[in-house]
Amino acid sequence: MFKKFLVLLFIILSTFVFTHCCLAQNSPQPIKINNILFDNSDNMIFLGTDAPSGYNQPIKLKKLSDRGYFDIENAILTRPNTSWTFKNSVIKQVKISQFSTKPDVVRIVILYNKGFKTGDLKLLQLDNNFILTYKDDFLDTNGETTVYNDERLNKEGYYEYTTFSEDEKPAETGAKNSVISSNPSAAKVLNNVEQEKHDTKLKSRFYVNRIDVKRGNALVRGIGQIAIENPLILTEPSRLVFDLPNTYVAPEIRNIEYVLSEKETIKIGQFEPTKARLVIKSEDVDKFRPVYSYDGQSIFFAHDNRLAGLSLFHKTAATTAYSAKKINNKTDELSFSYTNPIIHSIHRTADSVELNLYNSSGFDRTAFVKNLKSEKLANLRTEAIVPYGIKIILPVSGMSVLKYDEGTDCKSLKLTVTTPDEPVIKTKTPPVITKGREIRVIVVDAGHGGADVGATRDSIYEKDITLDISKRLADILTNKGYHVEMTRRSDETVSLKDRVQFTEEKNADLFVSVHVNSSVSEEPYGVETHYYTDESYNFAQEVHKSLAQKIDSKDRGLFKSKFYVINNSIAPSILVETGFISNTEERTSLITEERKQKTAEAIADGILNYIKKNK
Ligand SMILES: [Zn+2]
Repeated sequence: MFKKFLVLLFIILSTFVFTHCCLAQNSPQPIKINNILFDNSDNMIFLGTDAPSGYNQPIKLKKLSDRGYFDIENAILTRPNTSWTFKNSVIKQVKISQFSTKPDVVRIVILYNKGFKTGDLKLLQLDNNFILTYKDDFLDTNGETTVYNDERLNKEGYYEYTTFSEDEKPAETGAKNSVISSNPSAAKVLNNVEQEKHDTKLKSRFYVNRIDVKRGNALVRGIGQIAIENPLILTEPSRLVFDLPNTYVAPEIRNIEYVLSEKETIKIGQFEPTKARLVIKSEDVDKFRPVYSYDGQSIFFAHDNRLAGLSLFHKTAATTAYSAKKINNKTDELSFSYTNPIIHSIHRTADSVELNLYNSSGFDRTAFVKNLKSEKLANLRTEAIVPYGIKIILPVSGMSVLKYDEGTDCKSLKLTVTTPDEPVIKTKTPPVITKGREIRVIVVDAGHGGADVGATRDSIYEKDITLDISKRLADILTNKGYHVEMTRRSDETVSLKDRVQFTEEKNADLFVSVHVNSSVSEEPYGVETHYYTDESYNFAQEVHKSLAQKIDSKDRGLFKSKFYVINNSIAPSILVETGFISNTEERTSLITEERKQKTAEAIADGILNYIKKNK
């Protein structure tokens, strides 16, 4: 399921570039199909178009004896004709092409074997995209996590806080070391680039001009501040994907596959005008760690097992001091100091923090552990990183929040681990939602509040939007005869633990938490519904269906997410992300009466439908 989610996310990402183009509404201009993707793990073919959102043209499968086809009228295929042949499948082949005798038609032809069921084949329309699926329901994407939200950066699989330094600076700041310096005109271009360097840095723009493979690892170099976001792991073929925001890729190196090993490659493409996408194709995706240079001008993608003999790590940094402090009963602070810049990366998994110190020496585990007040952290493990380094694996709770500081000279690190209160112990047995169970008490939880403003942009606070929607939702449900309890009715601070406890005390039959999403990028928009326990799935599905239908935004899907309030409440519990505050258009909409009312109504309808179905 997680894999599926990643695929979906990939699709969402891949099509963002197209979603903002709009055609003149009144002229029947053809739509362009700009993007074709196929993922065989999901029986899914994806066609991205530049059609305005809401473009809706019902398309029926026309069936012949051994084949069928969908005609997308008034459409232009800007990609080459594409086909796939399948083995051991009811579907023999799918072909997508501009239909020759009717040039404004893009035809999807499906050749099938015996056993093909028309009902199993669907051409779905999601916003301005088409999705061809067979059997699997595309919208059934209850993945494990979501990537955009900057509130969730501590989730599993994140590559966080990474840095490295070299004996010599890796930055290609001039033409002299450049791969293209032999070409005079290209050198001129680079000189211009050099002149632009100052501006470039100010704008945080990064110019990638070189990828070097070093013993099966990759060094991505350039000029300016490099950053990565949205790490994704995709399958079939197995690959690791990163986006580089504000990045321009030198045309000479775009989409060139650099060979890392016999079966592994790395390539970088210009994904959007100001965004690059880096793809590492490897069966070992979980072994690669992105490590930033200390000046931020390059990233080294280090494979855990291939570090021996790298000149990059030759200069060892001896540990001069380390300490562990207990700030309070929830927070531990760990500090490390070194003689030289310490090359490192930090990787978060579900239950640990891995601190990879690639060039460190002199770490005394026993002495370090003695200082640790936290019993949990004291169970840390260490592993050697060949040849010089050490990996320190700190066990942390999935709820822990990690903060990290690095000295400006890269010779010191400080790690703060805060573990929130222990989850409420479930003393009651979870109610089994069977048909006929009566729903009486519904708890509506307005996200954030008081000192905790939630996500914010332009002096607009998440806490105000969530409270407004929640009050409207409570009113609707109360008018329908339900007993509604709210975790807060005003602008006050309520801890997550208190919210869960409140829900328990009220003997809630259903729990719904209202939130507003945000992302570091301005692009994402749309609605999401999250659930965690199996008992909550049907509830989440019903509410999400209603939201996706009634709110004029993107359907970002249903997610299985371990958020505190829905993980620890006994009643079927969901968390609704009603839109993105970080997207200008959606932010403008989210603060309107109309959107807030519509959202409340959509959630209420979903709740009522769920109750009706469970009668
Ligand atoms: Zn929130």
